[in-house]
Amino acid sequence: MRKYNSRALPLQGLKRSVLTGSHLLISVCLKERTEAFTQKILLQQKETERRAAEHQSKIDALTGLGNRFLLEENLAAHLEYAIARQEKICLAIIDIDHFKTHNDLYGHMHGDHCLRLTASVLKSCVGKAGSVYRFGGDEFLVLLNITDYDSVRDIAENIKQHFNLDESEDITDSGLTVTLSQGYAICRTDADSRKDILISKADKALYAVKNSGRNNYLIFEED
Ligand code: GH3
Ligand code: MG
Repeated sequence: MRKYNSRALPLQGLKRSVLTGSHLLISVCLKERTEAFTQKILLQQKETERRAAEHQSKIDALTGLGNRFLLEENLAAHLEYAIARQEKICLAIIDIDHFKTHNDLYGHMHGDHCLRLTASVLKSCVGKAGSVYRFGGDEFLVLLNITDYDSVRDIAENIKQHFNLDESEDITDSGLTVTLSQGYAICRTDADSRKDILISKADKALYAVKNSGRNNYLIFEED
């Protein structure tokens, strides 16, 4: 057991007259334990704050969706998992049609509202079949857990219906004032599979939709 010399101890705030012998030892032990406990709480608080800041850095502030950083992380893990099981992987890039014109017509604030609404409708259409990220600007990326053509087509069709503008009204039932173009890639995976190549395949499908009139989807599938 440690021995304490009462002369060498700091006795701030304590009555010297009562601090002798075992009283002194108890009070020193209590002080050390309180300090250790406070230190532990402070460290836990710092760790909680660090984790919250890290989480926040991966969330898009406007839409609340995961941003590109989170996507990079999740896509890498998803790809690793698919390669290990020799499974296919499916992702989609979805872009708002003529969003620049939309901003010019209705203003940037309404454009922001439209991005938030688009994010929330995409999330509900995808549901448990995958996760939605804001890829940047008016582009969203969907990482799907499903890879069979028919199920992917059902998701794409469901999204299209939610964004289908009534020609006479220029607003959908969900309050949306835009249409979307969607490009899907269902790809085989092997040790050479890379995230950027998968994304570029979905991007090609998206641009084929843009070039053929927008407000539609295209699913590219590898055998
Ligand atoms: P396309 O059909 O070819 O996709 O045409 P587009 O006008 O949607 O394409 P483009 O990429 O030229 O424009 C995207 C626009 O998205 C440009 C920019 O003003 C707008 N945008 C990007 N980020 C935001 C944002 O955070 N808020 C708002 N309101 N607009 C944004
Ligand atoms: Mg666009």
